[in-house]
Amino acid sequence: MLKRVLIANRGEIAVRIIRECLDSSIEAVSVYSTADSQALHRIIATRAVCIGGPRASESYLHIANLIEAAKATGCDAVHPGFGFLSESSDFARSCEAAGLKFIGPSSQVIDAMGNKAAARRMMIEAGVPVVPGSDGAVTSEKEAVAEAERIGYPVLLKASAGGGGRGMRKAFNTEEVRKGFQTASQEAESCFGNGEMYVEKLIENPRHIEFQILADSRGNVVHLGERDCSIQRRNQKLLEEAPAWGLSEQLRCQMGEAAVKAAKICGYENAGTVEFIVDKDEHFYFIEMNTRIQVEHPVTEMVTGVNIVKEQLRIASGLPLSFEQKDITMSGHAIECRITAEKVFENFAPCPGKIDFIHFPAGAGIRVDSALYNGCEISPYYDSMVAKIIAKGESRLEAVRRMRRALEETVINGVQTTLPVQHLLMYQQDFLRGGYDTGYIEAHLKELLSIYEAAGGRNESI
Ligand code: ADP
Repeated sequence: MLKRVLIANRGEIAVRIIRECLDSSIEAVSVYSTADSQALHRIIATRAVCIGGPRASESYLHIANLIEAAKATGCDAVHPGFGFLSESSDFARSCEAAGLKFIGPSSQVIDAMGNKAAARRMMIEAGVPVVPGSDGAVTSEKEAVAEAERIGYPVLLKASAGGGGRGMRKAFNTEEVRKGFQTASQEAESCFGNGEMYVEKLIENPRHIEFQILADSRGNVVHLGERDCSIQRRNQKLLEEAPAWGLSEQLRCQMGEAAVKAAKICGYENAGTVEFIVDKDEHFYFIEMNTRIQVEHPVTEMVTGVNIVKEQLRIASGLPLSFEQKDITMSGHAIECRITAEKVFENFAPCPGKIDFIHFPAGAGIRVDSALYNGCEISPYYDSMVAKIIAKGESRLEAVRRMRRALEETVINGVQTTLPVQHLLMYQQDFLRGGYDTGYIEAHLKELLSIYEAAGGRNESI
Protein backbone atom coordinates (compact mmCIF):
# COMPACT_ATOMS: atom_id res chain seq x y z
CA MET A 1 0.00 0.00 0.00
CA LEU A 2 0.93 3.65 -0.35
CA LYS A 3 2.65 5.08 2.73
CA ARG A 4 2.09 8.82 2.59
CA VAL A 5 -0.28 10.78 0.38
CA LEU A 6 -0.32 14.50 -0.29
CA ILE A 7 -3.85 15.83 -0.65
CA ALA A 8 -3.72 18.64 -3.20
CA ASN A 9 -7.06 20.14 -2.24
CA ARG A 10 -9.04 21.76 0.55
CA GLY A 11 -12.56 21.78 2.04
CA GLU A 12 -14.79 18.78 2.46
CA ILE A 13 -13.15 16.64 -0.23
CA ALA A 14 -9.72 17.07 1.37
CA VAL A 15 -11.23 16.05 4.71
CA ARG A 16 -12.95 13.05 3.08
CA ILE A 17 -9.65 11.87 1.56
CA ILE A 18 -7.60 12.49 4.73
CA ARG A 19 -10.05 10.42 6.75
CA GLU A 20 -9.84 7.58 4.24
CA CYS A 21 -6.03 7.66 4.25
CA LEU A 22 -5.95 7.47 8.03
CA ASP A 23 -8.49 4.62 8.05
CA SER A 24 -6.23 2.76 5.58
CA SER A 25 -3.10 3.38 7.72
CA ILE A 26 -1.73 5.82 5.17
CA GLU A 27 -0.27 9.11 6.38
CA ALA A 28 -2.09 12.16 5.05
CA VAL A 29 -0.20 15.35 4.25
CA SER A 30 -2.37 18.44 3.84
CA VAL A 31 -1.47 21.56 1.97
CA TYR A 32 -3.04 24.88 2.88
CA SER A 33 -3.00 28.49 1.81
CA THR A 34 -2.45 31.33 4.27
CA ALA A 35 -6.25 31.88 4.18
CA ASP A 36 -6.77 28.29 5.35
CA SER A 37 -4.46 28.19 8.37
CA GLN A 38 -7.44 27.30 10.60
CA ALA A 39 -9.18 25.02 8.09
CA LEU A 40 -10.23 21.53 9.17
CA HIS A 41 -8.17 19.80 6.47
CA ARG A 42 -5.04 21.37 7.95
CA ILE A 43 -5.96 20.42 11.51
CA ILE A 44 -6.81 16.73 11.03
CA ALA A 45 -3.96 15.69 8.70
CA THR A 46 -0.87 13.81 9.83
CA ARG A 47 1.20 16.79 8.67
CA ALA A 48 0.38 20.06 6.96
CA VAL A 49 2.42 22.31 4.69
CA CYS A 50 1.66 25.93 3.85
CA ILE A 51 1.99 26.29 0.08
CA GLY A 52 1.24 29.95 -0.54
CA GLY A 53 -1.14 32.85 -0.52
CA PRO A 54 -4.93 32.88 -0.44
CA ARG A 55 -5.53 33.12 -4.18
CA ALA A 56 -5.83 29.64 -5.67
CA SER A 57 -3.21 30.56 -8.29
CA GLU A 58 -0.72 31.11 -5.45
CA SER A 59 -1.51 27.87 -3.64
CA TYR A 60 -3.95 25.11 -4.65
CA LEU A 61 -3.26 25.71 -8.35
CA HIS A 62 0.49 26.20 -7.93
CA ILE A 63 1.97 23.04 -9.39
CA ALA A 64 5.61 23.69 -8.43
CA ASN A 65 4.73 24.41 -4.80
CA LEU A 66 2.58 21.29 -4.56
CA ILE A 67 5.26 19.05 -6.01
CA GLU A 68 7.85 20.57 -3.71
CA ALA A 69 5.59 20.00 -0.67
CA ALA A 70 5.07 16.35 -1.69
CA LYS A 71 8.79 15.75 -2.15
CA ALA A 72 9.82 17.60 1.01
CA THR A 73 7.46 15.49 3.11
CA GLY A 74 8.45 12.18 1.48
CA CYS A 75 5.04 11.45 -0.06
CA ASP A 76 4.72 8.62 -2.54
CA ALA A 77 1.43 9.76 -4.07
CA VAL A 78 -0.81 12.77 -4.65
CA HIS A 79 -4.60 12.83 -4.49
CA PRO A 80 -6.00 15.78 -6.45
CA GLY A 81 -9.64 15.59 -5.21
CA PHE A 82 -12.02 17.50 -7.52
CA GLY A 83 -11.80 21.00 -8.95
CA PHE A 84 -8.42 22.81 -8.74
CA LEU A 85 -5.81 20.66 -10.56
CA SER A 86 -7.78 17.40 -10.57
CA GLU A 87 -8.20 17.43 -14.34
CA SER A 88 -4.92 19.09 -15.20
CA SER A 89 -2.74 16.85 -17.34
CA ASP A 90 0.17 19.21 -16.60
CA PHE A 91 -0.20 18.46 -12.90
CA ALA A 92 -0.47 14.70 -13.51
CA ARG A 93 2.62 14.90 -15.76
CA SER A 94 4.55 16.85 -13.12
CA CYS A 95 3.67 14.22 -10.52
CA GLU A 96 4.72 11.45 -12.89
CA ALA A 97 8.03 13.25 -13.61
CA ALA A 98 8.70 13.67 -9.88
CA GLY A 99 8.11 9.95 -9.23
CA LEU A 100 4.84 10.61 -7.39
CA LYS A 101 1.84 8.40 -8.10
CA PHE A 102 -1.00 10.61 -9.30
CA ILE A 103 -4.21 9.13 -7.87
CA GLY A 104 -6.19 9.21 -11.08
CA PRO A 105 -5.63 8.27 -14.71
CA SER A 106 -2.42 9.00 -16.63
CA SER A 107 -1.71 12.45 -18.06
CA GLN A 108 -2.34 11.07 -21.59
CA VAL A 109 -5.83 9.88 -20.61
CA ILE A 110 -6.60 13.24 -18.98
CA ASP A 111 -5.51 14.96 -22.20
CA ALA A 112 -7.57 12.59 -24.34
CA MET A 113 -10.74 13.09 -22.27
CA GLY A 114 -10.12 16.76 -21.44
CA ASN A 115 -10.65 17.79 -25.03
CA LYS A 116 -14.36 17.10 -25.38
CA ALA A 117 -14.35 17.24 -29.19
CA ALA A 118 -11.55 14.63 -29.29
CA ALA A 119 -13.28 12.50 -26.62
CA ARG A 120 -16.46 12.47 -28.76
CA ARG A 121 -14.44 11.10 -31.66
CA MET A 122 -12.96 8.37 -29.51
CA MET A 123 -16.42 7.36 -28.27
CA ILE A 124 -17.76 7.15 -31.81
CA GLU A 125 -14.90 4.75 -32.63
CA ALA A 126 -15.75 2.66 -29.55
CA GLY A 127 -19.41 2.45 -30.56
CA VAL A 128 -20.63 4.57 -27.62
CA PRO A 129 -23.57 6.76 -28.71
CA VAL A 130 -22.80 10.50 -28.78
CA VAL A 131 -25.11 13.46 -29.39
CA PRO A 132 -25.30 14.18 -33.16
CA GLY A 133 -22.79 16.95 -33.80
CA SER A 134 -19.73 18.19 -35.61
CA ASP A 135 -16.91 15.82 -36.37
CA GLY A 136 -14.30 17.46 -34.17
CA ALA A 137 -13.85 21.19 -33.69
CA VAL A 138 -15.28 23.98 -35.85
CA THR A 139 -12.72 26.68 -36.55
CA SER A 140 -14.86 29.64 -37.62
CA GLU A 141 -18.27 31.21 -37.21
CA LYS A 142 -19.04 30.25 -40.82
CA GLU A 143 -18.19 26.62 -40.17
CA ALA A 144 -20.28 26.65 -36.97
CA VAL A 145 -23.28 27.94 -38.95
CA ALA A 146 -22.79 25.29 -41.67
CA GLU A 147 -22.58 22.54 -39.04
CA ALA A 148 -25.64 23.86 -37.17
CA GLU A 149 -27.61 23.81 -40.41
CA ARG A 150 -26.49 20.29 -41.20
CA ILE A 151 -27.33 19.03 -37.67
CA GLY A 152 -30.62 20.97 -37.49
CA TYR A 153 -31.69 23.55 -34.90
CA PRO A 154 -31.62 23.92 -31.95
CA VAL A 155 -27.92 23.34 -31.31
CA LEU A 156 -25.52 23.74 -28.43
CA LEU A 157 -22.18 25.44 -29.03
CA LYS A 158 -19.65 23.88 -26.67
CA ALA A 159 -16.05 24.61 -25.82
CA SER A 160 -13.72 21.63 -26.27
CA ALA A 161 -12.00 22.57 -23.03
CA GLY A 162 -15.24 23.63 -21.28
CA GLY A 163 -16.33 22.82 -17.77
CA GLY A 164 -18.87 23.95 -15.20
CA GLY A 165 -21.20 25.08 -17.96
CA ARG A 166 -18.75 27.74 -19.18
CA GLY A 167 -18.12 28.19 -22.90
CA MET A 168 -21.56 26.78 -23.70
CA ARG A 169 -24.39 28.54 -25.60
CA LYS A 170 -27.76 27.41 -26.93
CA ALA A 171 -28.62 28.55 -30.46
CA PHE A 172 -32.03 28.33 -32.10
CA ASN A 173 -31.11 30.04 -35.40
CA THR A 174 -28.21 31.28 -37.53
CA GLU A 175 -28.06 34.65 -35.82
CA GLU A 176 -27.72 32.99 -32.39
CA VAL A 177 -24.95 30.72 -33.66
CA ARG A 178 -23.03 33.78 -34.90
CA LYS A 179 -23.44 35.62 -31.61
CA GLY A 180 -22.97 32.57 -29.39
CA PHE A 181 -19.87 31.33 -31.19
CA GLN A 182 -17.87 34.49 -30.51
CA THR A 183 -18.92 34.98 -26.89
CA ALA A 184 -18.61 31.31 -25.90
CA SER A 185 -15.25 30.98 -27.61
CA GLN A 186 -13.95 34.11 -25.86
CA GLU A 187 -15.29 32.87 -22.53
CA ALA A 188 -13.53 29.52 -23.04
CA GLU A 189 -10.33 31.29 -24.07
CA SER A 190 -10.31 33.38 -20.89
CA CYS A 191 -11.39 30.56 -18.54
CA PHE A 192 -9.44 27.65 -19.99
CA GLY A 193 -6.88 29.23 -22.30
CA ASN A 194 -8.45 27.39 -25.23
CA GLY A 195 -11.23 28.88 -27.35
CA GLU A 196 -11.79 25.79 -29.54
CA MET A 197 -15.50 25.10 -30.12
CA TYR A 198 -17.68 22.28 -31.44
CA VAL A 199 -21.39 21.95 -32.18
CA GLU A 200 -23.90 19.45 -30.81
CA LYS A 201 -27.61 18.94 -31.30
CA LEU A 202 -29.40 20.51 -28.31
CA ILE A 203 -31.40 17.76 -26.66
CA GLU A 204 -34.20 19.75 -25.05
CA ASN A 205 -34.56 19.16 -21.33
CA PRO A 206 -32.84 15.78 -21.12
CA ARG A 207 -32.08 13.89 -17.94
CA HIS A 208 -28.46 13.95 -16.82
CA ILE A 209 -27.51 10.42 -15.86
CA GLU A 210 -23.92 9.46 -15.14
CA PHE A 211 -22.15 6.20 -14.37
CA GLN A 212 -19.42 5.79 -11.78
CA ILE A 213 -16.61 3.55 -12.98
CA LEU A 214 -13.57 2.06 -11.27
CA ALA A 215 -10.64 0.70 -13.24
CA ASP A 216 -7.50 -0.94 -11.88
CA SER A 217 -4.01 -0.89 -13.39
CA ARG A 218 -4.55 -4.36 -14.88
CA GLY A 219 -7.34 -3.37 -17.25
CA ASN A 220 -10.28 -4.51 -15.07
CA VAL A 221 -13.17 -2.07 -15.27
CA VAL A 222 -16.48 -2.17 -13.39
CA HIS A 223 -19.30 0.34 -13.12
CA LEU A 224 -21.07 1.11 -9.85
CA GLY A 225 -24.39 2.04 -11.41
CA GLU A 226 -25.78 5.45 -12.11
CA ARG A 227 -26.66 8.78 -10.51
CA ASP A 228 -29.36 11.14 -11.67
CA CYS A 229 -28.01 14.69 -11.57
CA SER A 230 -30.77 16.49 -13.45
CA ILE A 231 -31.49 18.97 -10.65
CA GLN A 232 -29.19 21.69 -11.95
CA ARG A 233 -29.10 25.44 -11.86
CA ARG A 234 -27.08 26.94 -14.72
CA ASN A 235 -25.50 23.55 -15.40
CA GLN A 236 -24.42 23.26 -11.76
CA LYS A 237 -25.83 20.32 -9.83
CA LEU A 238 -27.86 21.09 -6.69
CA LEU A 239 -28.95 17.58 -5.79
CA GLU A 240 -28.09 14.07 -6.95
CA GLU A 241 -29.65 10.68 -6.39
CA ALA A 242 -28.94 7.02 -6.97
CA PRO A 243 -30.41 5.04 -8.57
CA ALA A 244 -32.06 7.15 -11.30
CA TRP A 245 -35.79 6.99 -10.76
CA GLY A 246 -37.74 5.07 -13.40
CA LEU A 247 -34.71 3.97 -15.43
CA SER A 248 -35.53 0.62 -17.00
CA GLU A 249 -33.23 -2.29 -16.19
CA GLN A 250 -32.52 -2.72 -19.89
CA LEU A 251 -31.43 0.90 -20.32
CA ARG A 252 -29.34 0.72 -17.13
CA CYS A 253 -27.50 -2.33 -18.52
CA GLN A 254 -26.90 -0.69 -21.91
CA MET A 255 -25.63 2.51 -20.35
CA GLY A 256 -23.43 0.65 -17.87
CA GLU A 257 -21.88 -1.37 -20.69
CA ALA A 258 -21.28 1.82 -22.68
CA ALA A 259 -19.60 3.44 -19.66
CA VAL A 260 -17.25 0.47 -19.24
CA LYS A 261 -16.47 0.54 -22.98
CA ALA A 262 -15.68 4.25 -22.74
CA ALA A 263 -13.22 3.61 -19.89
CA LYS A 264 -11.61 0.66 -21.66
CA ILE A 265 -11.05 2.43 -24.99
CA CYS A 266 -8.99 5.15 -23.36
CA GLY A 267 -7.00 2.84 -21.06
CA TYR A 268 -8.55 4.35 -17.96
CA GLU A 269 -7.21 3.80 -14.46
CA ASN A 270 -8.75 4.73 -11.07
CA ALA A 271 -12.19 6.33 -10.44
CA GLY A 272 -14.02 8.24 -13.14
CA THR A 273 -17.47 9.22 -14.28
CA VAL A 274 -19.03 8.80 -17.69
CA GLU A 275 -21.75 11.41 -18.19
CA PHE A 276 -24.73 10.83 -20.46
CA ILE A 277 -27.86 12.72 -21.30
CA VAL A 278 -31.07 10.78 -21.87
CA ASP A 279 -33.89 12.13 -24.05
CA LYS A 280 -37.64 11.66 -23.71
CA ASP A 281 -37.52 8.53 -25.90
CA GLU A 282 -34.86 6.97 -23.68
CA HIS A 283 -32.04 7.45 -26.18
CA PHE A 284 -28.82 8.04 -24.33
CA TYR A 285 -25.77 9.98 -25.47
CA PHE A 286 -22.26 10.33 -24.07
CA ILE A 287 -21.42 13.96 -23.22
CA GLU A 288 -18.14 13.76 -21.34
CA MET A 289 -15.95 11.83 -18.98
CA ASN A 290 -14.82 13.32 -15.67
CA THR A 291 -11.40 11.93 -14.90
CA ARG A 292 -11.56 12.33 -11.12
CA ILE A 293 -13.62 11.67 -8.01
CA GLN A 294 -16.89 13.59 -8.13
CA VAL A 295 -18.74 15.70 -5.58
CA GLU A 296 -21.70 13.31 -5.70
CA HIS A 297 -19.76 10.06 -5.16
CA PRO A 298 -21.33 9.44 -1.69
CA VAL A 299 -24.75 8.53 -3.13
CA THR A 300 -23.11 5.70 -5.06
CA GLU A 301 -21.22 4.63 -1.93
CA MET A 302 -24.47 4.57 0.06
CA VAL A 303 -26.34 2.31 -2.38
CA THR A 304 -23.50 -0.01 -3.45
CA GLY A 305 -21.56 -0.23 -0.19
CA VAL A 306 -18.34 0.36 -2.15
CA ASN A 307 -16.00 2.91 -0.58
CA ILE A 308 -14.80 4.72 -3.71
CA VAL A 309 -11.97 6.73 -2.12
CA LYS A 310 -10.65 3.59 -0.42
CA GLU A 311 -10.70 1.85 -3.81
CA GLN A 312 -8.83 4.80 -5.33
CA LEU A 313 -6.05 4.33 -2.78
CA ARG A 314 -5.94 0.57 -3.41
CA ILE A 315 -5.82 1.01 -7.17
CA ALA A 316 -3.04 3.61 -6.88
CA SER A 317 -1.13 1.09 -4.74
CA GLY A 318 -1.24 -1.33 -7.70
CA LEU A 319 -3.82 -3.67 -6.18
CA PRO A 320 -6.48 -5.28 -8.38
CA LEU A 321 -10.16 -4.52 -7.90
CA SER A 322 -11.50 -6.79 -5.20
CA PHE A 323 -14.82 -7.36 -6.98
CA GLU A 324 -16.26 -8.03 -10.41
CA GLN A 325 -19.27 -6.53 -12.14
CA LYS A 326 -21.52 -9.36 -10.98
CA ASP A 327 -20.70 -8.54 -7.34
CA ILE A 328 -22.06 -4.99 -7.61
CA THR A 329 -25.68 -4.43 -6.64
CA MET A 330 -27.58 -1.29 -5.74
CA SER A 331 -29.74 -1.49 -2.68
CA GLY A 332 -32.08 1.21 -1.40
CA HIS A 333 -32.03 4.82 -2.51
CA ALA A 334 -29.72 7.74 -1.67
CA ILE A 335 -30.10 11.49 -2.19
CA GLU A 336 -27.42 14.16 -1.74
CA CYS A 337 -27.99 17.90 -1.28
CA ARG A 338 -25.02 20.13 -2.02
CA ILE A 339 -25.25 22.96 0.47
CA THR A 340 -23.53 26.10 -0.81
CA ALA A 341 -23.02 29.37 1.08
CA GLU A 342 -24.93 31.61 -1.30
CA LYS A 343 -27.50 34.40 -1.21
CA VAL A 344 -30.42 32.76 -2.96
CA PHE A 345 -32.35 36.05 -3.34
CA GLU A 346 -29.31 37.72 -4.89
CA ASN A 347 -28.89 35.41 -7.84
CA PHE A 348 -27.00 32.90 -5.70
CA ALA A 349 -24.06 35.24 -5.08
CA PRO A 350 -21.42 33.69 -2.78
CA CYS A 351 -21.91 34.45 0.93
CA PRO A 352 -18.60 34.01 2.75
CA GLY A 353 -18.38 34.71 6.49
CA LYS A 354 -17.87 33.32 9.96
CA ILE A 355 -19.89 30.33 11.15
CA ASP A 356 -21.26 31.38 14.53
CA PHE A 357 -22.96 28.11 15.23
CA ILE A 358 -23.37 24.89 13.35
CA HIS A 359 -25.28 21.72 14.02
CA PHE A 360 -25.38 18.85 11.56
CA PRO A 361 -27.98 16.08 11.45
CA ALA A 362 -27.31 12.45 12.30
CA GLY A 363 -29.28 9.27 12.86
CA ALA A 364 -30.19 6.31 10.69
CA GLY A 365 -29.35 6.68 7.01
CA ILE A 366 -27.73 10.14 7.29
CA ARG A 367 -24.20 11.08 6.26
CA VAL A 368 -22.66 14.54 6.28
CA ASP A 369 -19.45 15.39 4.42
CA SER A 370 -18.25 18.83 5.43
CA ALA A 371 -15.22 20.77 6.64
CA LEU A 372 -17.23 23.23 8.74
CA TYR A 373 -17.00 23.56 12.51
CA ASN A 374 -18.22 26.08 15.08
CA GLY A 375 -16.37 29.36 14.66
CA CYS A 376 -14.70 28.55 11.33
CA GLU A 377 -14.50 31.00 8.44
CA ILE A 378 -15.91 30.43 4.97
CA SER A 379 -13.30 32.07 2.77
CA PRO A 380 -14.28 34.29 -0.17
CA TYR A 381 -11.39 32.85 -2.18
CA TYR A 382 -12.79 29.42 -2.92
CA ASP A 383 -15.83 27.47 -4.05
CA SER A 384 -18.98 28.14 -2.07
CA MET A 385 -19.92 24.50 -1.41
CA VAL A 386 -19.70 23.94 2.34
CA ALA A 387 -21.44 20.65 3.05
CA LYS A 388 -23.03 17.62 1.46
CA ILE A 389 -25.95 16.07 3.28
CA ILE A 390 -26.76 12.57 2.15
CA ALA A 391 -29.83 10.54 3.11
CA LYS A 392 -30.38 6.88 2.40
CA GLY A 393 -33.58 4.89 2.74
CA GLU A 394 -34.79 1.46 1.77
CA SER A 395 -37.10 3.21 -0.67
CA ARG A 396 -36.89 6.57 -2.42
CA LEU A 397 -39.72 7.84 -0.23
CA GLU A 398 -37.86 6.88 2.92
CA ALA A 399 -34.75 8.67 1.61
CA VAL A 400 -36.87 11.78 0.94
CA ARG A 401 -38.39 11.67 4.43
CA ARG A 402 -34.96 11.30 6.00
CA MET A 403 -33.61 14.17 3.90
CA ARG A 404 -36.50 16.42 5.04
CA ARG A 405 -35.79 15.53 8.64
CA ALA A 406 -32.02 15.95 8.21
CA LEU A 407 -32.37 19.38 6.61
CA GLU A 408 -34.77 20.46 9.37
CA GLU A 409 -32.24 19.42 12.02
CA THR A 410 -29.40 21.33 10.36
CA VAL A 411 -28.44 24.73 11.76
CA ILE A 412 -25.88 26.88 9.96
CA ASN A 413 -25.72 30.33 11.54
CA GLY A 414 -23.57 33.12 10.16
CA VAL A 415 -23.98 32.73 6.42
CA GLN A 416 -26.89 32.22 4.04
CA THR A 417 -27.09 28.88 2.26
CA THR A 418 -29.13 27.05 -0.37
CA LEU A 419 -30.51 24.66 2.26
CA PRO A 420 -34.05 26.15 2.42
CA VAL A 421 -34.44 25.74 -1.36
CA GLN A 422 -33.39 22.11 -1.20
CA HIS A 423 -35.73 21.58 1.76
CA LEU A 424 -38.69 22.98 -0.20
CA LEU A 425 -37.74 20.81 -3.15
CA MET A 426 -38.31 17.76 -0.95
CA TYR A 427 -42.02 18.66 -0.86
CA GLN A 428 -42.59 19.41 -4.57
CA GLN A 429 -44.87 17.02 -6.42
CA ASP A 430 -42.76 16.89 -9.57
CA PHE A 431 -39.71 16.06 -7.53
CA LEU A 432 -41.56 13.43 -5.53
CA ARG A 433 -42.79 11.81 -8.73
CA GLY A 434 -39.16 11.53 -9.92
CA GLY A 435 -38.06 11.37 -13.54
CA TYR A 436 -37.69 15.20 -13.66
CA ASP A 437 -35.33 16.65 -16.27
CA THR A 438 -32.56 19.26 -16.44
CA GLY A 439 -35.11 21.99 -17.18
CA TYR A 440 -36.87 21.48 -13.84
CA ILE A 441 -35.04 24.05 -11.70
CA GLU A 442 -35.05 26.72 -14.39
CA ALA A 443 -38.82 26.30 -14.69
CA HIS A 444 -39.54 26.17 -10.94
CA LEU A 445 -36.88 28.18 -9.13
CA LYS A 446 -38.89 31.41 -9.10
CA GLU A 447 -41.85 29.59 -7.60
CA LEU A 448 -39.68 27.91 -4.95
CA LEU A 449 -38.11 31.23 -4.00
CA SER A 450 -41.49 32.92 -3.80
CA ILE A 451 -42.75 30.22 -1.41
CA TYR A 452 -39.62 30.70 0.68
CA GLU A 453 -40.07 34.47 0.64
CA ALA A 454 -43.73 34.20 1.63
CA ALA A 455 -42.64 32.10 4.60
CA GLY A 456 -40.36 34.96 5.70
CA GLY A 457 -37.13 33.61 4.19
CA ARG A 458 -35.86 36.92 2.84
CA ASN A 459 -35.88 38.47 6.28
CA GLU A 460 -34.37 35.55 8.09
CA SER A 461 -31.58 36.86 10.26
CA ILE A 462 -28.15 35.45 9.61
P1 ADP B 1 -19.58 20.85 -18.16
O1 ADP B 1 -18.26 20.21 -18.23
O2 ADP B 1 -19.56 22.32 -18.36
O3 ADP B 1 -20.37 20.44 -16.96
P2 ADP B 1 -21.17 19.11 -19.83
O4 ADP B 1 -20.81 18.68 -21.20
O5 ADP B 1 -21.07 18.09 -18.75
O6 ADP B 1 -20.34 20.41 -19.47
O7 ADP B 1 -22.63 19.69 -19.80
C1 ADP B 1 -23.21 20.26 -18.66
C2 ADP B 1 -24.72 20.12 -18.71
O8 ADP B 1 -25.22 20.69 -19.91
C3 ADP B 1 -25.19 18.67 -18.74
O9 ADP B 1 -25.40 18.15 -17.47
C4 ADP B 1 -26.50 18.77 -19.48
O10 ADP B 1 -27.50 19.14 -18.57
C5 ADP B 1 -26.27 19.93 -20.42
N1 ADP B 1 -25.92 19.45 -21.79
C6 ADP B 1 -24.71 19.09 -22.26
N2 ADP B 1 -24.78 18.73 -23.55
C7 ADP B 1 -26.07 18.87 -23.92
C8 ADP B 1 -26.79 18.67 -25.15
N3 ADP B 1 -26.20 18.28 -26.27
N4 ADP B 1 -28.12 18.91 -25.14
C9 ADP B 1 -28.74 19.33 -24.02
N5 ADP B 1 -28.13 19.54 -22.85
C10 ADP B 1 -26.81 19.32 -22.78
